Parts: sequence; structure tokens; C-alpha cells
Amino acid sequence: MKVPVPDYIRNIAPYAPGKPVEELEREYGIKNAVKLASNENPLGPCPSAMKAVADALPRLHRYPDGASVLLRRALSAHLDYPEEGIVTGNGSDDLIALIATAFLAPGDEAILPHPSFLMYDISVITAGAAPVFVPLKDLRPDLPAMRTAVTDKTRVVYICSPNNPTGTTVTEAEFAAFLADLPRDILVVIDEAYAEFVRDPEALRGRDWIGKGHPVISLRTFSKAYGLAGLRVGYGLMSPEMAGIFHRVRPPFNVNLPGQIGAAAALADTDFLDRTVRLTHEGLDWLYSELERMGLAYFPTQSNFFLIDVGRPAKEVFKALLRKGVIVRAMTAYGYPDYIRVNAGLPEENQRFATALRDVLA
Ligand SMILES: *Cc1c(COP(=O)(O)O)cnc(C)c1O
Repeated sequence: MKVPVPDYIRNIAPYAPGKPVEELEREYGIKNAVKLASNENPLGPCPSAMKAVADALPRLHRYPDGASVLLRRALSAHLDYPEEGIVTGNGSDDLIALIATAFLAPGDEAILPHPSFLMYDISVITAGAAPVFVPLKDLRPDLPAMRTAVTDKTRVVYICSPNNPTGTTVTEAEFAAFLADLPRDILVVIDEAYAEFVRDPEALRGRDWIGKGHPVISLRTFSKAYGLAGLRVGYGLMSPEMAGIFHRVRPPFNVNLPGQIGAAAALADTDFLDRTVRLTHEGLDWLYSELERMGLAYFPTQSNFFLIDVGRPAKEVFKALLRKGVIVRAMTAYGYPDYIRVNAGLPEENQRFATALRDVLA
């Protein structure tokens, strides 16, 4: 019996997430593994969020607020952005999927930087639309080439800034030039999952472009800087009209109860965010100097992760590091067979990674 499914769905390669630490430890017989592979917060979850979630447990028999009112109000106050233009989701992955559901139909085209975050192409293809990949240039989204790729079938353009997996950003000036003659009926999605880590003052700030004549959505998440990847909360900033479209297609309870409560508490904990950002920047700078000492090429980042050119097949280096209990990502599937991606961890984790890498490459 054949499962009745369109070929464009059958042909999607399932998203391959990094394996949980526990599974790798079992598989490789290692202990105290260091995971620097999924851009997670090395400090753990925001403590205020943990407390708020624990306090909310007796209410788990209740449905969550389908409109995430308290969380959206907290976001509105925190960002000084109107509540009606804030849409929350089960991680920003959920919002990425909803964008394709709502704005793409079979026959449409969507323009994507490549390589970038895999959820864009999965969602575009799921909607029956055609992804149009535009290669990065010098590891950065190539906006002029993306503009050239626009046809009368283009409905959505995705920009990831900082881009995953390269850590590079688009500048405000580049984006202004890109938007200048872009048809005004094309939705521009700016995924800013790593916005909190950006150090370059010229980097694109998506929210500044909302309501300026083009449909623009800025996507953010609690998964990275706030340390709440397991809670699944993301949000999008957009016009109230655009938000109304999301409310037509989203599941009514797409942000769970602990998620709403935990995320709101995390937002108020500016001390945790500050500590996270400082630790990340110090960790990156330390790793850069170690790599320079090893004579390895790396690509400075605006995010909490970056690429290293290990000068040999990344898959082998990945496996050798695993045996030493250090988990990174090989970039082979992204088209960079000699690169690994690593995120900044705690000082002792960075140290273990640097030592392991030195041994592996020796
Ligand atoms: C991690 C990540 C996300 C999403 O994360 P959620 O956990 O679904 O909020 C979105 N975009 C990029 C580029 C990411 O790296």
C-alpha cells in the first residue's frame, strides 16, 4: 500500500537535528560531553523562567491563553512595540511554517539564501511552492543577487541575519538598497534568531523596516539568548494587518502554558541576558585567539556560533572530536566539506574544545 502523499512532500529530506547529549554519550561511551553544536545557551535556562515555570505547574490542566496576552503585553512593553503587531509561536520554527502556510501556494516562488536555515526550504516545499536558492557571497546573504532572482511569481524573500550557519549579517544600507525597487507585494521575512548577540552597529535591524511601505516580518526567539530552546517560544514583529493573517491559520494554542509564563519571566531578567551576551562575546574572542595560535582560518561572527576551516574533511574531525566528548557540527551537508560550526560555551567548555581540536588536528 502506498501512502497517499504528493511527491513534493515525499521528496523532502527530514530535518536532521543535533543528537541529544545523552544519546551521544551512550553511543560513544563518553561522559561529561560538551555540546557546542546547537547554539544553545551554555549558562542553562534563564533562572527566572525556571522559577516561573515551576510555579505554573499546578495549572497544567488548563488550556493556555490562546492569544498569549500576558506574554505579548510583556514583549510590547519590553520592545516598545505595539501588541497588535506581535505574534507568538511554538518557537520561531512555528512562525516560519505558518508563513509558508499563509503566504505561499503551489506555483509560487520563494527566494532563499543558501546555505541558510533549513526550515525555510522545508516549509516552502511543504506549501507546494518552489524554493529559489541564491548562494551566499563571501559567506554573506547576497542581496543584489537575491533581487535579480525576483520574478513575477516571487511571493516571499527570506533573509537570515545573522545567517545560520555562517554568523554573518546584512547591513542596514544593503537592505535599504535591496528594498528600494522591490515590488511592494513581496513579503520580506527577516529571521533574527541571534539578534541579541550582534555587535556590528551597521547590522540590519528588522523592526525598523516594519510599516515603511513593504510587508516585513522580523522573527525572534527565546531559544538562544534566553536559554529556553526546550520551552519552544518565538515571536514575530509585523504590522497588525499581517498579524491578522497569522491568527487565521495558526493552531489556537500554539504557545503552551509554561512557555508563555517562562518567556515573560525571562524577558524581565535583563541580568541573565546581559550575562549571556557577555559570556558569549568573551568566549568567541578567546576561541578566535586560540585558533589564531593554531594557525586555523575562522570566520568572525555576529552570532553565538561561527565557522572554522579545519582544512580536511569536517566529518572526520567531527567524529574524532566526538570520541573526545566534544560535539560540534560538520558543515558537509551545507556545502562546506572542510568547515565545522561551533558555538561559544562556558570557559571550561571552550578550553576542552580547543584542546580536543588541537589534539585531533595534530
Ligand atoms: C535556532 C534558530 C531558529 C529557531 O528557533 P526556535 O527554537 O524555533 O525559536 C530560527 N532561525 C534560525 C536561523 C535559528 O538558528
